[in-house]
Amino acid sequence: MADSNTTAHRINADLHCHSVVSDGTLTPVEVVERAARNGVQILALTDHDELGGLAQAQGRAQELGIQFVPGVEVSVTWSDETIHIVGLRLDYLNPTLAGGLYKTRNGRDGRAHEIADSLAAVGIPDAYEGAVRFAGNPELISRSHFARYIVETGVCQTVQEVFQRYLIEGKPGYVPHRWAKLSDAVTWIRSAGGTAVMAHPGRYKLSDLCMDQMIREFCDAGGAAIEVVSGSHTPSQYSEFAATALRFGLMASRGSDFHGPGESRHDLGSMPQLPKSLQPVWHDWPEAAALDAR
Ligand code: AMP
Ligand code: MN
Ligand code: MN
Ligand code: MN
Repeated sequence: MADSNTTAHRINADLHCHSVVSDGTLTPVEVVERAARNGVQILALTDHDELGGLAQAQGRAQELGIQFVPGVEVSVTWSDETIHIVGLRLDYLNPTLAGGLYKTRNGRDGRAHEIADSLAAVGIPDAYEGAVRFAGNPELISRSHFARYIVETGVCQTVQEVFQRYLIEGKPGYVPHRWAKLSDAVTWIRSAGGTAVMAHPGRYKLSDLCMDQMIREFCDAGGAAIEVVSGSHTPSQYSEFAATALRFGLMASRGSDFHGPGESRHDLGSMPQLPKSLQPVWHDWPEAAALDAR
């Protein structure tokens, strides 16, 4: 993807990352400090189904003079597939959003016990307690925490290996789960004044036809943008989803999906830029216009 000043947007926006409030390994304050060090100019913290890190992150961003965008990544089930919807620039005190996320988080503890039971059956005992030790938030036990525990036990060398062997669909530690409805997630984000963004579409195992149907439903529900440059995408997927953004009239977003040093392929703010042919999700944000004018 083009990266020169004339063909690419210039602002270093990283609009997707995680802290210990979900399955990241840095605190919200550490995420902001690292982003600032890396030259990020606009940062969104988008913890899974959680808003609990945003006030702290916003406070530190103000101190450091980096623009902060309150965000979230909502877990959704669409046609039996898990889809993630990022919400950006939202009011994190909004009760509709907070209530929806609370319900979405609700099933996680029971699911974590089921995951632990199925891991015990294949010779990995005590995984619930192990995952809890890695979780910064008892309401948000994620497969990532199980993965870190299993690496600690020595059964696998890396988190990626754990996912491949135990935690993805079809593997012994995978437990199907129903998350929020796509239209509800978009509605909650919009109720809080936010913009709904389709996260990392390249990760979904959908046929072309189903992908189009899913994105159409997302648009119909009020979804406005799609991640084009994502830490979860390959470079060829940048081009593929740039075309998708244009085809559906969606704005484009850029985010590392950073979870922590040594665990994520891309560090905060280190992604290629979005091409000028796309309208960035920040195109009408005053804080971005101020940066562009510099
Ligand atoms: P959960 O919401 O508990 O199902 O966990 C989903 C999280 O697991 C994602 O947000 C990623 O951080 C992580 N994840 C999912 N698939 C993989 C994978 N193949 N390799 C590494 N991490 C993954
Ligand atoms: Mn995650
Ligand atoms: Mn995701
Ligand atoms: Mn994410």
